Amino acid sequence: MLINCPYCGPRDVSEFTYQGDDNRVRPDQASTDQAAWNAYTYDRVNTMGDHKELWLHSGGCRAHLRVTRSTLTHAISSVAFVRDHGEKKSAARRKPGVRA
Ligand SMILES: [Zn+2]
Repeated sequence: MLINCPYCGPRDVSEFTYQGDDNRVRPDQASTDQAAWNAYTYDRVNTMGDHKELWLHSGGCRAHLRVTRSTLTHAISSVAFVRDHGEKKSAARRKPGVRA
């Protein structure tokens, strides 16, 4: 399987590290809703078809990438830098200067 890194070009998947599902939304950091945290931590959707994933080009430019890959054929339909899509999804943004 080849991943077409936007910076390096097509590279073997062995140069990349899978970093997880890109469809999950993290609960607010201050949330104490145990059910929401359990769902975020343990619930997974077993997608059939296009699946949005996060990959790190660990053997190359070390860019974090958003990859859309078919779970049926492993065909990759899109690859983009994470930084080009704004901030990481979150249920709520962190407040500047506030530490949890
Ligand atoms: Zn790269």
